[in-house]
Amino acid sequence: MIYDQIVLRYGDLIMKGRNRNQFEKRMHRQVKNALTPFKGVTYWKTFGRLYVKLNGQPYEPIADRLKDLFGIISLSPVISSESELEAIRATAMTLMNSLKTPPKTFKVSVKRAWKGFPHQSQQMNHLVGAHILRAFPELSVDVRNPEVELKVDIQAEATYLFCEVIPAAGGFPFGSNGKAMLLLSGGIDSPVAGWLALRKGLELEAVHFHSYPFTSEQAKDKVVALAKRLSYFSGAPLKLHLVPFTEIQTTLAQAGQDNLIITLMRRAMLRITEGLAAKSGALGIVTGESLGQVASQTLPSMNVIGRAAQLPMLKPLIMMDKSEIIAMAEKIGTFQTSILPYEDCCTLFLPKSPSTNPNIRIVENVEAGIANLDTMIEDAINGTEHMFLSPRKTSSAQSTESSSEEDEWF
Ligand code: ATP
Ligand code: MG
Repeated sequence: MIYDQIVLRYGDLIMKGRNRNQFEKRMHRQVKNALTPFKGVTYWKTFGRLYVKLNGQPYEPIADRLKDLFGIISLSPVISSESELEAIRATAMTLMNSLKTPPKTFKVSVKRAWKGFPHQSQQMNHLVGAHILRAFPELSVDVRNPEVELKVDIQAEATYLFCEVIPAAGGFPFGSNGKAMLLLSGGIDSPVAGWLALRKGLELEAVHFHSYPFTSEQAKDKVVALAKRLSYFSGAPLKLHLVPFTEIQTTLAQAGQDNLIITLMRRAMLRITEGLAAKSGALGIVTGESLGQVASQTLPSMNVIGRAAQLPMLKPLIMMDKSEIIAMAEKIGTFQTSILPYEDCCTLFLPKSPSTNPNIRIVENVEAGIANLDTMIEDAINGTEHMFLSPRKTSSAQSTESSSEEDEWF
């Protein structure tokens, strides 16, 4: 194991960003949480970057974990050297000797960030390159399309050498763009929407509506598993609200407006979500809707459904095709869980022909005709169970008060 550190790059985002300090703080917190399982691994920060000290650990599992964090553009395992010509040359040799498949072509790219270093970048390319060529007579330089690009980053405190640049998830660090509620159904789409929202730096609380005992315990387990997976990406626990929806659903099903059931249900879901959002301080509602996918996702349907909510609706998948969403679900590791067969509350009362063009006045009339709808919505909010999920541990809480577990992380 030749590498001693991993460098994490934020890109220019951090330089231009509104609140650089905040961004960096959140990033450090994320990295710290993600590194907890790797004993002995530490990190240190410098201007616009973060270095993880491997202290003898193999870099692969650590890089694998860190590349999934948001706000990081790319990362590289590096060998550090003293910022001095002969030391850099010797380290470059170590790196070239460590390559599993010896390349036929290479190039050296030196970046002299520390202007106190006596040789200029271009000169250094030659000084290091010539040294390597002497040791590997079969190797040649190809500046356009080399098999290996040996990068040398000369900083004041040390020089870092590496060949590999691993792309990371990008986006903003967890929580840097505020908090929103994620409507998490257990289907394919909403976990992907959640991942995209997290990537944009949104802190999420997930809301799931169940119609127990019509929906099974397994259906709930599935949502818990998906929420856990999302918490892996944020590197922080995710609060999951489990809303009892049976009473409202059965009442709406008896309203005698079969083709409007889904519209009515969705509107009730949004009202409940807003009630929960008010307690959490969330300022948006994220859903996995995609234009035209089902009857409730036509523009006229979304218009009527959306009017039940005051908060902005965030729909990351709205313009995506199903095949693109599935590919993303596979990439983030939620697909296999999402396709487990357990019933969702909305499929229970699925009408034969759900309206694709509901009429807002009729919908409002039906709602006005259900005497205790407001009370039922209030009851659902008050009867909601809360869980804190993380990839490592799970805890239940009866109230929306912040749990001590949250404090442990932040
Ligand atoms: P998904 O794959 O996310 O379930 P879908 O294509 O099946 O989406 P719908 O079932 O119409 O579409 O749901 C649209 C959106 O409404 C979902 O993406 C999700 O955000 C929300 N939603 C639906 N059912 C529930 C539920 N039981 N609990 C929480 N949110 C839900
Ligand atoms: Mg669904």
